[in-house]
Amino acid sequence: MKKHNFNAGPSVLPKFTIENTAKNVLDLEGTGLSIMEISHRSKEFSAIMDESVALMKELLDVPSGYSVLFLHGGASLQFCMIPYNLLNKKAAYLETGSWSSKAIKEAKMFGEVEVVASSKEQNYNFIPRDFRVSGDAEYLHITTNNTIYGTEIKEDIEVPVPLVADTSSDILSRPMDVSKYGLIYGGAQKNLGPAGLAYVIIKDDILGKVDRTIPTILNYKTHIENGSLYNTPPCLAIYASLQTLKWLKGLGGLKVINKMNTDKANMLYDEIERNKLFVSTVKNPADRSIMNVTFVMNENYKDKEADFLQFAVSKGMVGIKGHRSVGGFRASLYNALPKESVIALIDAMKEFEAKA
Ligand SMILES: *Cc1c(COP(=O)(O)O)cnc(C)c1O
Repeated sequence: MKKHNFNAGPSVLPKFTIENTAKNVLDLEGTGLSIMEISHRSKEFSAIMDESVALMKELLDVPSGYSVLFLHGGASLQFCMIPYNLLNKKAAYLETGSWSSKAIKEAKMFGEVEVVASSKEQNYNFIPRDFRVSGDAEYLHITTNNTIYGTEIKEDIEVPVPLVADTSSDILSRPMDVSKYGLIYGGAQKNLGPAGLAYVIIKDDILGKVDRTIPTILNYKTHIENGSLYNTPPCLAIYASLQTLKWLKGLGGLKVINKMNTDKANMLYDEIERNKLFVSTVKNPADRSIMNVTFVMNENYKDKEADFLQFAVSKGMVGIKGHRSVGGFRASLYNALPKESVIALIDAMKEFEAKA
């Protein structure tokens, strides 16, 4: 049976990415060696790294004065690397979910943290929009897409201090105005490639302002100066991510993928609204994520939750069980998820409703 992969992360990747990577694990572009067997300092790998950086810059239209890095440690290492490099006295954080809350916990080890607004009291089911960032904060940290709670900041917000964004689960899903950000980062395993890789887009001139000594490997300057080759990078994960970048470019770029993503998400949200069995966990349509759609059973049908899950699984749906902190269901509709999978889920919802 065909599987529809709604996993939250690691998650669906383009067929193009999987196939090209598999081929080059066996023989990297006719060299007779695997991508896993070559030196990260070889001319073959240099070309892979250069092209990956160039395509990130091209797709996101990154202005000059920014560096693109590919590092180990996932998004979580960035939770501490960011304050290590940028927080001298005080930083502002917007708390919109468990990931931002983890970022806040790390930042507190380096200085004063002002949580400018939080949706925690309401189980993070909305994006706070009424907040003020004081000018003495060294940066404002936001999580653009809250993977667990299904909320998303879909616009590039204006703030008077450098904006730092965890974009792990919506990077490359829409065009961004990178010039509004000081730093954009995330783990690769939601929308870009395999786990084991983080990307960091950093405005060079925000660095060098903290008083502390930074360990070499945790210093962004080290990685900028060495083109992400200070130590051996996750070569295979970078190679696979490059395939995804090529796939995105081939589709026509981020405007095109954004249109596809919005169409997919709208179809599913419309069905949740229409179907008597289900209800969205995010009330304000403006806050609803186009990447992770979270929904629960309507009050009167709570007892049908397990049955629907089993029914969906029997129809080939993978990974739609909601995160334990929200319950219900979560369908992750990342870039690579085909529209046919969304249609299959909607059909299953309709079929189950007719039986209920
Ligand atoms: C998955 C996720 C993370 C954690 O990523 P790791 O690479 O596992 O550290 C952080 N932030 C967001 C928004 C995520 O979705």
